[in-house]
Formats: sequence, structure tokens, C-alpha cells
Amino acid sequence: MNTPIIEVIDLTFDYPGFRALAQVSLRIEPGTVTALVGPNGAGKTTLLRCIAALDTPLSGTVRVAGHDVYESPREVHALMGYLSDSFGLYSELTVAQGLEYAARSQGLATEAVAKAVQTTAERMGLGDKLQKLASTLSRGQRQRLAIGQAIIHSPQVLLLDEPASGLDPEARGALAGVFKALQAQGMTLLVSSHILAELDAYSTHMLALNQGRVLEHRALGGATAASAGAPAERLLRLEFVHSAESVASWLANQVNVTLRHIDASGLEISLRGDAAAQAALVSACVAAGYPLTVVAPVTENLQQSYLKSLEAGRSSGRDSKSADKAQP
Ligand code: ATP
Repeated sequence: MNTPIIEVIDLTFDYPGFRALAQVSLRIEPGTVTALVGPNGAGKTTLLRCIAALDTPLSGTVRVAGHDVYESPREVHALMGYLSDSFGLYSELTVAQGLEYAARSQGLATEAVAKAVQTTAERMGLGDKLQKLASTLSRGQRQRLAIGQAIIHSPQVLLLDEPASGLDPEARGALAGVFKALQAQGMTLLVSSHILAELDAYSTHMLALNQGRVLEHRALGGATAASAGAPAERLLRLEFVHSAESVASWLANQVNVTLRHIDASGLEISLRGDAAAQAALVSACVAAGYPLTVVAPVTENLQQSYLKSLEAGRSSGRDSKSADKAQP
């Protein structure tokens, strides 16, 4: 695995009398876009705030680009942008003034500010609105200004909490275009949203939380992860001449293979590796006496992945108990 840009180890966070995150561990690779999903109250905002060092956990470690966020919050904030779910704008400042204020708060050198304001406004499609007051912007434009303020210092990592809430479909589509462009420039994004169709348009990974625990964290189907520079992970459907059950235990022991689902006619696996790894697995199946009839990529959208993950969590019992009660 690549060196992660975000690493969370055994993170536990308590509100008074309530455990919101219980021993959460995860690694996010650079250049990826991770959809942070989960039901209301799952802990998404709390996790984002902990990663941004805005809240201090009971225990655990968070590193961003190798820095411990609680020991070196300034270093981390210099390379991170954060959009809160309840972001505020100074309504009496113009777009240019709001961006300038953000640039100066991020410590940009005075001579770099004007250029950063202009470039960011253009990046966010606000190049012709520089002299407009924030209070006169539409909801979508305000959202883009807030994101502009979060990225004015060209961070490596951008955390976004419900960035599309309240936007109409056209504004959501425009925002998805912005996120794709940021990813193409090498930024790593972690985006929480309930609007899965919108996340689907640009996410390479899904991180599903429920009741303060990680239900599932994995690459989404298709070649998106590989195109983001992350190691490829393929979701494949395999069908055999023999019954799926008779192949399952052998398959589960193969390097880079994780079994995801078995049904009467076949099974789904996640294979870490490229086309050569897939070809090698097919040869190994045949050599082991398990001839294949089908090898096909699994194409499921984020909504399907999320629902499957919730369902698997329920049947394994992870959903039935909430994160441990906070210790007094
Ligand atoms: P949503 O999708 O509704 O925004 P979420 O996944 O972002 O939810 P969090 O806001 O992180 O969830 O909240 C996680 C849990 O912690 C919830 O059960 C919530 O009620 C609880 N919680 C959040 N803030 C506080 C607080 N200040 N005091 C006590 N409990 C809190």
C-alpha cells in the first residue's frame, strides 16, 4: 500500500455520556476521493472534525501527511482545507474580500494574495463575481465561495462535510465538476454526504460508518482508484463449473483476494492488483481444478454498495449495538 495521506488509528471520541466513535482505524491514500457515508448520527461529522484537529478524542492517533494532528495542528492546517456542514461567510464582505481574508488567515505571503484570490475565484467559477457581496450570492455560489476559502492555500487534503446540501441538481452537478478538477490536480478529498448519486460521480472509495464504527472502507468498482494513482482494486464476479461453495475456501486463501458475496450461481471478490493479477488468478483457478465460466467486473453504484454494506453490518451484528457507552 502507498503511504497514506490520512491515517487514523484506534480513534475513540466521547461526547458527555455518549461514545460517537469507537476505535476507528483507517488509511486514505493520496489522490483519492472518499465518499464518507452513513446514517444520521453515524459519526461522520465527528470523524471529520477529529481529522481536522477541531475536536480532541479520548484516545487514538490521527496523522495527516505524516504529522500527528494533535501535536502539530498548525502544520496540518497549512496542508488541509475544511468545509464545515454549517460554514459561515461574512455577508458584508465581497467575494474578493472573503477570499483575501482566508488567504491572509492561512498565512499566504502578501505578494501572493492577489494572485491566489484571482486563481481561486476562477477555479470556483466566481471570476466574474469578485465584487459581489457574499449576501447577494445564490446558495450554490455561496457554497463555492466557502470551498474557495477552504482551498485558497492549495491544500493537499480537503475535508468537506455535506457540501451539496441544499443545492439544486444543476448546482450539485457543477460542484461535482469542481471536485473532479481538484482531484485531477492531485488533491485528496474526503466528502461526507447523503446524496449518494452525486458522490458516485467522482468518488474512488467508499467509507461507510455506522454507530461510530467503520462498516466498510474500500475502492469502488471501475478503474477510478487506479486512475487516481492508488493501487487498483477490482470487484469481480466469478462463476465456476463447480458450485460456488466448493471454490470459496480455496479462493479466500489466494493472495490479494477478499470474498465479498456468495450466491447460488457464483461469487463476488475484491482483487487487489491490475489486469496481470486478474489473469494470474484465472490461471490459478483453472490449474487448481476450478474452471471458470464467467469473469466479469461488478458494476455497482455507490447507493448499492452502501446498502450492501449496511445489510452486511446488520447480519454480522455490528449494527445491533451502538458504539460502547462512554466511560465515565
Ligand atoms: P448526520 O448525518 O446527521 O450529520 P453524523 O454522521 O455527522 O450525522 P455526528 O454529527 O458525528 O453524526 O454525531 C454522531 C453522534 O454524536 C450522534 O448520535 C449525535 O447525536 C452525537 N452528538 C453529536 N454532537 C454532540 C454533542 N455536542 N453532544 C452530545 N452528542 C453529540
